[in-house]
Amino acid sequence: MEYISTRGTAPILDFEATTLAGLASDGGLYLPTHWPQLSRDEIADLAGLDYVETAVRVCRGFVGNALTEDELRALFAQAYGSFAHAAVTPLVQLDSRHWLLELFHGPTLAFKDVAMQALGLLFEKFLSRRDQHLTIIGATSGDTGSAAIAALAGRASLDVFMLHPEGRVSDVQRRQMTTVMAPNIHNIAVQGNFDDAQALVKAMFNDPAFAGRFNLSAVNSINWARLMLQTVYYFYAAVRLGAPGVKVNFAVPTGNFGDVFAGYVAAQMGLPIGRLIVATNVNDILARALANGDYSVGHVEPTAAPSMDIQVSSNFERLLFDLYGRDAAALTAAMQGFEADKKLVIPPAALQRAGNWFDSHRVDADEMALTLRWAYAECGELIDPHTAIGLAAGRAFAADINGPVVTLATAHPAKFRDAVERAAGVRPTMPTRVSGLFDREERYDVLPAELGAVEAFIAARAVARTA
Ligand SMILES: *Cc1c(COP(=O)(O)O)cnc(C)c1O
Repeated sequence: MEYISTRGTAPILDFEATTLAGLASDGGLYLPTHWPQLSRDEIADLAGLDYVETAVRVCRGFVGNALTEDELRALFAQAYGSFAHAAVTPLVQLDSRHWLLELFHGPTLAFKDVAMQALGLLFEKFLSRRDQHLTIIGATSGDTGSAAIAALAGRASLDVFMLHPEGRVSDVQRRQMTTVMAPNIHNIAVQGNFDDAQALVKAMFNDPAFAGRFNLSAVNSINWARLMLQTVYYFYAAVRLGAPGVKVNFAVPTGNFGDVFAGYVAAQMGLPIGRLIVATNVNDILARALANGDYSVGHVEPTAAPSMDIQVSSNFERLLFDLYGRDAAALTAAMQGFEADKKLVIPPAALQRAGNWFDSHRVDADEMALTLRWAYAECGELIDPHTAIGLAAGRAFAADINGPVVTLATAHPAKFRDAVERAAGVRPTMPTRVSGLFDREERYDVLPAELGAVEAFIAARAVARTA
């Protein structure tokens, strides 16, 4: 399988090189040249398979010759063997229409573990084959950083420099990052907000004098392999609810548009999906974009669902590429206009194409809290604020659509226990796998939000590029 950039001028890469590159060198995002297909029979055959085997069948077309099927199976067995639930991503029934797909049984209590645990092993495998060292630099509002650190700690072939905004991640999220003492993990608390941290990371990648010295890569959801790994649970859930004979709908708490894009990929591969419901909080750029084509950046408002407090959704570019008929020149012009003006009007034909798959719904704080209480009072399920936003959107559309509605439960309620307690009046208990978190020592460095200071810190600790 070959991968091309949405901006059309970066080199075409295979799966291994795409995974290690993260971002394309022309500023675009990598996508496969075509969508591997699973026939109805092949989808029917997934019924009853465990998560690992499902992952092999769904991913092998994307991986191509980069790994044998046995290597892939062993890798998934290792990645998912550590999950706290034998089903890996179990479905929980709420009422006659609604299900939760629990994606939070990994080490850091959020869905990002599902992809990151396998991505860490892919990195290690590919780097040892090439005898290369990688320097991973990322910015996090909490969940990406903790999942990446859990997956990459102690792997000698790479270093991780993770920037988080000082004082603006939850205590659980911070401790999940800063109590990891592995020598290849470097936590930096930036004196600024998440946008400042993100801007520093972008500036480092775009600074040739700095970037040229190290083998830089990224682990946020611009990395194609993460999206591939997330398509697996759409198949896994849908076949359990009757696919391919039944069309299943998914409601997805959305920030960077990675998780819901994986659902779109599953549909392109042949999985019969009804609607993909994009749930946003009051930071609703995606809801506006999909409802009337208004993709314009607003002001980021902090909410109880911080992993969705985002205005620019990196992965939306991948959908736009398809909506523009995979015309890289037209997409590049549109994205350059967006970067300059902070707004883009999606042409009516493209918007109509998006409407074949996507609905969207904006959920405010009241509707989130009401839904969180409903799930607890009526179904006995304590859910986190991100999941409550997804479920609220799913419930808003249920009357207009047919078939089961699966809400992706993206975080364990204990990860956002203060917000859950405020809404439901019940304090979620910490799962035993993270119960020692508050007894451990923390280690991190505080740096000003200045490019020079952060580059100097990283340069003093990173391994220089040799070839
Ligand atoms: C990252 C995250 C999201 C948003 O997912 P995207 O792929 O960025 O759209 C939603 N909920 C939780 C708990 C997250 O950590």
